[in-house]
Amino acid sequence: MSSAPAQIAVTGLAVMGRNLARNLARNGFRVAVHNRSKGRTDALIQEFGHEGEFVPADDLPALVASLERPRKIIIMVQAGPATDAVIDELVPLLDEGDIVVDAGNAHFLDTRRRQDALQASGLHFVGSGVSGGEEGALNGPSIMPGGSVESYAALEPMLTKIAAQVGDQPCCVHVGPDGAGHFVKMLHNGIEYADMQLIAEAYDLLRHVLGLSPAELADVFRDWNTGDLESFLIEITADVLSQTDPTAGGAFVDIVLDQAEQKGTGRWTVQSTLDLGIPVSGMAEAVFARSLSGDVVRRSAAAGVLPGPASEKADVDRDAFIDDVRHALYSSKLVAYAQGFDAIRAASEQYDWDIDLGAMATIWRGGCIIRARFLDRIKEAYDRNPALPSLLVDDYFKEAVANGQEAWRRVVATAAQVGVPAPGFSAALSYYDGLRAERLPAALIQGLRDLFGAHTYKRVDQEGTYHLEWSGDR
Ligand code: NAP
Repeated sequence: MSSAPAQIAVTGLAVMGRNLARNLARNGFRVAVHNRSKGRTDALIQEFGHEGEFVPADDLPALVASLERPRKIIIMVQAGPATDAVIDELVPLLDEGDIVVDAGNAHFLDTRRRQDALQASGLHFVGSGVSGGEEGALNGPSIMPGGSVESYAALEPMLTKIAAQVGDQPCCVHVGPDGAGHFVKMLHNGIEYADMQLIAEAYDLLRHVLGLSPAELADVFRDWNTGDLESFLIEITADVLSQTDPTAGGAFVDIVLDQAEQKGTGRWTVQSTLDLGIPVSGMAEAVFARSLSGDVVRRSAAAGVLPGPASEKADVDRDAFIDDVRHALYSSKLVAYAQGFDAIRAASEQYDWDIDLGAMATIWRGGCIIRARFLDRIKEAYDRNPALPSLLVDDYFKEAVANGQEAWRRVVATAAQVGVPAPGFSAALSYYDGLRAERLPAALIQGLRDLFGAHTYKRVDQEGTYHLEWSGDR
């Protein structure tokens, strides 16, 4: 413990806040700590007080009084009304120029609202995404701070030191003003949903079509983790598939109920990107697939009742099909990331955030759940062309999908033929084919709209807006 002023404070000492405070202290920063119920503060000091210089505070006035100026206070409480309650209590205690950081999983529109309110009081508000769960918070998270340039300059030495490091680069970059950091964190979670759904589809297809055991599948994923697909999620997929259930003794994955939960950030991503008019079908299908998995009433009414294909067998070669599924997974993943980066670009334009898209890929290279080798490829793509209209038209991505597309089509066709659901793979392929089509059937939709509602249409051969005087009785 120290009597010198603290350099930074953390309020909210559940798993995330406690570990973030320990990370700061372990990195040599004097950190004031506070929690609504004092027990958590006492426990932190008792268990981990020896790890660095902590300044415990019983209440928010004491926390504020313990800090050097400008004060820097990280709020790490439950997202939503709890965050507003803490901000409301904190603001009257602060002075102009102080910096309030919300490092919880706030919705970016809440962050924009809070930023406006605090700016009016002369305070800086930083909505910062923090990814990597409790382990990341302790050992180096991926940090996505929004807010003013001035507030980031004050926080940068601390945030970049406690963030995950890849080579000599911290996984922390100033994302942009107000809600930019929380928007990018939300997209990170949406991409995480899509990534996991695609991995699950690869597992399901290989298991059903080839009859591979979970242990054999673990070897397949381990092998994939040595190539372009190398990533934390592929690595831990192999771990889950090779795990034996300590109680029942068989494969762990077979004892787990097949209903995926969601805390809501995937849903937020899809809702927000719909508002931006950006198709994020990879993330949407992942959210829908989780909802379907949890819809016990309709699943039990249909299972064993609705007929499937006459034969659930496909005539495929084992090694060739494994390689086809690897291509389908990688191509679908590239589509999901391309859609995610489109959404970030669109939000950046809509809210005037001026986000450096390539830098976003570097933030995610370490510390977070979607850390992966191929994120370097995204950075390189935007370095080559910062105005890239879609990642899919970058040379690397174009070639990767060109190499894999025939395999990808075979996998989607096989899934349909044997009746195994592959919504992520097939939606990604439809998006790809829609994107590259020279002419889409939207022309017919425009015709229909003009006929039934006089909604007008545009022509390929003349400028302007037209309406046809439709004739005939209907
Ligand atoms: P949490 O379970 O989301 O929240 C518990 C903390 O919030 C406790 O410190 C609690 O204080 C405090 N709290 C709740 N209502 C409050 C109120 N009205 N006033 C003051 N304090 C209040 O904690 P967490 O899992 O550590 O997560 C913290 C934040 O990080 C959340 O926004 C979460 O979404 C985000 N996040 C979590 C993870 C993760 O893996 N857990 C990963 C990334 C981001 P008491 O102890 O007094 O109840």
